[in-house]
Amino acid sequence: MTSQQEQQEESKTFPLKITVDKQSNKVVFVEATKDFVETLFSFLSLPLGTIVRLLATTDKNDRQQLSKSSPFFENIKNLYQTVQNLNSDEVWNNPLCKQMLLHPRNSCESLCMKLYLNIDDSEPSSKFYVCDSCNKFTTFRNLDCTCGKPPNRQPKNLDSEGQGNHASNGFFDTKSEQMFLVSDDLKILPSSLLNSMQMLLKSGISDSTQLEEVTQNIGKKEILNLLKYTLTSHEPLTNTILQSSSKNNDEPRNQYVNGIVTSNYKRNKMDIKVLQSRSKKKLVSAEADGDFIDFILGFLTIPLGSILKILIPNNFPRCVGNLYKSVKNLNPMSELLHPCIAPHYGCPNQPLNIFPLKFPDHYYYGIHHNDDDDDYNTIEEVISNSHVSIVNRRSVTELDPREGAVGFVKRAAFYVLGDDLEVKPLAANSFLSYLKELSLPLDDLEVAVITVGEEEAKSFLQALFTSKFTLTSVLN
Ligand SMILES: [Zn+2]
Repeated sequence: MTSQQEQQEESKTFPLKITVDKQSNKVVFVEATKDFVETLFSFLSLPLGTIVRLLATTDKNDRQQLSKSSPFFENIKNLYQTVQNLNSDEVWNNPLCKQMLLHPRNSCESLCMKLYLNIDDSEPSSKFYVCDSCNKFTTFRNLDCTCGKPPNRQPKNLDSEGQGNHASNGFFDTKSEQMFLVSDDLKILPSSLLNSMQMLLKSGISDSTQLEEVTQNIGKKEILNLLKYTLTSHEPLTNTILQSSSKNNDEPRNQYVNGIVTSNYKRNKMDIKVLQSRSKKKLVSAEADGDFIDFILGFLTIPLGSILKILIPNNFPRCVGNLYKSVKNLNPMSELLHPCIAPHYGCPNQPLNIFPLKFPDHYYYGIHHNDDDDDYNTIEEVISNSHVSIVNRRSVTELDPREGAVGFVKRAAFYVLGDDLEVKPLAANSFLSYLKELSLPLDDLEVAVITVGEEEAKSFLQALFTSKFTLTSVLN
């Protein structure tokens, strides 16, 4: 996003008509436009890494509070920090790999660009860089071409709406003036007298004199707060609009046994070796190859909506589940119910069956005469997926940001994961110092091999939402 666009986004607001319960000082529901509801929907398109990055801009004290009340936020933040702290050239296939994980792209980018307010400020994939010497292009800034030069031509993208899926089936198709009701815990219904009544009755309020209607405009800052509280509280609108704090009173959801959507896919399984303490019934550490590390770090690239699709929404913190169910009710065809990982962000072994979107990898690059202009000097370098109006065109193919390598981290190396999933490259000579670090009696330790397939992979996903995202809680 350019700074001008950013400024524009900062100044946009949504008008809300808010029904407040004066007695408890809580929002019962708000009446809002389709634009507001669509921005709420877009939360599902955000990869976990983007959520951490966006919420890092919110108030620091508040963030610490959040970490305590929300295991999910704490867990994805720790995973993000693990990636931030891994600086070594021994780990990453190339420097871009780390940046890709810290700034994952949004596969619903072209949809989100149509929003009145798009909170995802990730680098768009609609900007192309073409190599002068080869017929290669990339959409990643700072990626060198295979010839060693940086691709420095920046043609105008004629398919300016972004690559890939242009279908408008993410949000609402109509340009209607339909208004919506959004309850404090993010159930969303079309606005009507009876729907208002229904929301009121469900909130348990019997005396209408308790109610007050106020109007307020909220902007990007409040939407980011709303995202934060959606993941961490049971009353995000009250927290955002009335600026009250509340602890998440969702019941702890540690029992997921029956809550998994199973599929019949058979994926490659990954074996990891674990060291466990018999007396503490705890996994001390695991030794794993690049596939497994990519799988764990790759959580940052998975959009929230896809996670909800795999774990039955009932198993989620209530508001996130309500948001997912509302999208399903209002637009069952929405791609936000199963967003892909962004192109190039896949990992070689993905037992969760969430795959990267594929964009075309051939484009036409050349010169375009702008017919709309009388001035015949308006000739510009352009790129497009269809060649209709391009002269002197040549076909260009896309560079792979991980050219010549597999995944994000190096394959030749082995890695140690702590119980807290902190990743370290395993150096052969570090065995003794590692043992000393553990300071555990050797006769209490044993080594076992655990196979991670689809079920175990889902346990990792579920563990993100429970108190501890650790090897012990998932694999023991
Ligand atoms: Zn080149």
